[in-house]
Amino acid sequence: MNIAMVLANAARAFADRPALCRGRETVHSYGAFLARSASLGTALRRRGLKSGARIGVFLSNRTEYFEILFGAWFAGLTVAPINAKLHAKELAYILDNCAASVLFTDIEGGLSQPGDVVDVDGDAYATMVSTPPDTLQPATAVPDDIAWLFYTSGTTGYPKGAMLTHRNLYAMTLSFLADIGPVEETDASLYPAPLSHGAGLLSLAHIVRGAANVVPESGGFSPDEIVDLINHYPGSSFFAAPTMVNRLVTSPAMEDTKVENLDHIFYGGAPMYLEDLKRALGLLGPRLWQAYGQGEAPCTISYLPPHMHLDTGDGRLDARLSSVGIPRTGVAVRVVDAEGRDLAPGEAGEVIVAGDVVMAGYWNNASATASALRDGWLWTGDVGTFDAHGFLSLKDRSKDVIISGGSNIYPREVEEVLLRHPAITEVSVIGRRHADWGEEVVAFVSATDPVTAEELDAFCIDNMARFKRPKIYRFLPSLPKSNYGKILKTELRALLASETAA
Ligand code: AMP
Repeated sequence: MNIAMVLANAARAFADRPALCRGRETVHSYGAFLARSASLGTALRRRGLKSGARIGVFLSNRTEYFEILFGAWFAGLTVAPINAKLHAKELAYILDNCAASVLFTDIEGGLSQPGDVVDVDGDAYATMVSTPPDTLQPATAVPDDIAWLFYTSGTTGYPKGAMLTHRNLYAMTLSFLADIGPVEETDASLYPAPLSHGAGLLSLAHIVRGAANVVPESGGFSPDEIVDLINHYPGSSFFAAPTMVNRLVTSPAMEDTKVENLDHIFYGGAPMYLEDLKRALGLLGPRLWQAYGQGEAPCTISYLPPHMHLDTGDGRLDARLSSVGIPRTGVAVRVVDAEGRDLAPGEAGEVIVAGDVVMAGYWNNASATASALRDGWLWTGDVGTFDAHGFLSLKDRSKDVIISGGSNIYPREVEEVLLRHPAITEVSVIGRRHADWGEEVVAFVSATDPVTAEELDAFCIDNMARFKRPKIYRFLPSLPKSNYGKILKTELRALLASETAA
């Protein structure tokens, strides 16, 4: 079944409900959303595009994003949403990699691409979305057809396109409704996070239930604006990277928030540190859902629902809050050694995942597919442990583990400790080659108050094994982040490499 049925069904039941909103204003009802998407699908078909052709989407967050996703699916095509903050060369790489037939964009650098480019602010787009549709039914698709090429965020190496099939997107949507739902037509899903990533994928669970989809006027995240939208829309929820949750709860706007309007914040995509999470819980109450996923198993590996964020007096609260929770409905999760043997609770190994959410492979990249997908299991590249109660904790990406003097050091553990220091607002720990030790621990720190490396070292000596503590501190005003809110360790590594070269 074509994933576009999500919209075709919703538009019948909720034709007059607000579907696409810009800020406080409704732009299109579900009936109009369906008509415009079906029109776009017809217009794309008339360009001679065949099933499975790739459509690049290099667009800021705006309501048209949804029309383009569904328009392409209506026509049986594959979308390749591209992070709107990428450089023109990175964009060109992705368009070339997936041999995109058409690019939809509103970004200047994106418009200079060769080939068929549709300016979403131009007349051609307006004509496409008003073309009388041949049909209001989506093209036939089989479950293994590729619906979405999810280009990995590119924090390492060249981006790879995870092939997400119609089956994957349905499984993700059903698992959302099983674990996180219910969603109702009176709810509002807000999109301060990029639609090219988790936020766009998760929109499906809101569209299937006829909820309003609200894109902030700024197209991005600002605490004042998100508070204004929460106050306007009862039943609101949104996907946010942990750094966004931190910015929201530390903003003066927080005081004016009608917290009762907030159904939940779905946070994930990067570690949420314990101290930050406790502060957010103190202000928002049990309205936080944590999700662990990756592009290759979109947003759907494990979760920590609101009630598991509460202290039940069992003495395990901190362990739960530091974990990524329990496996999602319909997903199998194991922690294994390099040979694929299951490890006992408490032992760290690679997290592997199976289920209908797992991608079909990487686009045009047989060797990366063979190393990620083995015997039906997705090897996530994340190192984790299960505890005796079935809660999964992530240590780090396997490639981020620092090996110093033969001991494994998980940057996350060191970061958690340093974040407890009152002067520190952000920290990221990486390894640097060292002639005697193999690697040494380097901490990049952003601090609100003056603090010295010596003071931080003394703090580490009081709180962690000596061999884990950073040998070098670098102070920055803020740490480099992707527009998904992830701290970019690759940029920190490049900074260190340039220091060494100098
Ligand atoms: P991406 O494919 O860009 O979404 O990145 C996925 C990676 O982000 C995962 O493999 C994890 O390393 C990390 N990640 C995702 N969710 C979480 C989470 N809840 N806690 C910690 N790390 C996470």
